[in-house]
Amino acid sequence: MAILVTGGAGYIGSHTVRELVEDGRDVVVYDNLSRGHREAVGEGTPLVVGDINDYIKLKETMQKYAIDSVIHFAAESQVGESMANPEKYYFNNVVGTLNLLKAMKDCDVKKIVFSSSAAVYGEPQEIPITERCPKNPTSVYGRTKLMVEKILVDYDVAYGIRHVALRYFNAAGAHVSGEIGEDHTPETHLIPIIMEVALGKRDKIKIFGTNYPTPDGTCIRDYIHVTDLAKAHILALDWLINGGPSRAYNLGNEKGFSVLEVIETVERITGIKIPREDTSRRLGDPAVLIASSKKITDELGWIPRYTTLDDMVKTAWNWHSKNPNGFNDK
Ligand code: UDP
Repeated sequence: MAILVTGGAGYIGSHTVRELVEDGRDVVVYDNLSRGHREAVGEGTPLVVGDINDYIKLKETMQKYAIDSVIHFAAESQVGESMANPEKYYFNNVVGTLNLLKAMKDCDVKKIVFSSSAAVYGEPQEIPITERCPKNPTSVYGRTKLMVEKILVDYDVAYGIRHVALRYFNAAGAHVSGEIGEDHTPETHLIPIIMEVALGKRDKIKIFGTNYPTPDGTCIRDYIHVTDLAKAHILALDWLINGGPSRAYNLGNEKGFSVLEVIETVERITGIKIPREDTSRRLGDPAVLIASSKKITDELGWIPRYTTLDDMVKTAWNWHSKNPNGFNDK
């Protein structure tokens, strides 16, 4: 009996695989390596190079490895790209998940932990955001995540496939060992971009908007350490293994930091001055996103360990400074 981790060679996927393996679980990674990295998967862990739109390969993999649960990360995840190329997002994120669910149904696999996103909420009506808040995604990416959540509800009712959907806020940091971390091409996320400036790979950080209704005018986000996210997946899986009903949970730290605070934290921790440029707002960026994670703490006992911005920046810097070219350095 093994756990299939789709997208297990990606950023959050590889950190989750690491925690699962350290916990003694039997894991098989399924990844098309379009964004993921072979080097991010530990040596003892089987890696099947395949696409979630390949139903036959999914089914063969489930049968070959006696899969009895799935953690599903594989997805396209860039908001801007999703607006420019919705077809890619609907096919990979929605149709791909339908293929995965069909293979699960045909192989009698009844448990799935799904990577959802704070993007399902869109522009929040209230802060902190609870799971009951209205879901009005403002991007194609967010819509794909919400569509899959709804599909999962229907598959539970009709076929008894139970799920936990985890709505991540801003994943950050890296494994404390510095052996795995964030490596996207192109990079679009704030902390790794600032790291690239610190490493001299970019000349400055562009701040997307300085006139938001926040204390310093820059956007506020809720950063959550990738290892804390990873551990939540194990709790979610155990919830399903123990017979728990389907659930959706937010995952954040319930604390917000502005773009300027993040830049200043990186400067303090690295000792490197980060040149910056004030630029216009990025389309679709809400001013403030802060999670309430009370539900997952109350129901699954999730307690984050790396809760300060310093924790996230220190572990991220450890990874980026040891591997300035990401997994190409491996
Ligand atoms: N951001 C920025 N400059 C950049 C990248 C991001 O000012 O080069 C801001 C962005 O507008 C947002 C925050 O940093 O307010 C976090 O953005 P990121 O893309 O990391 O995550 P998101 O909140 O979009 O999931």
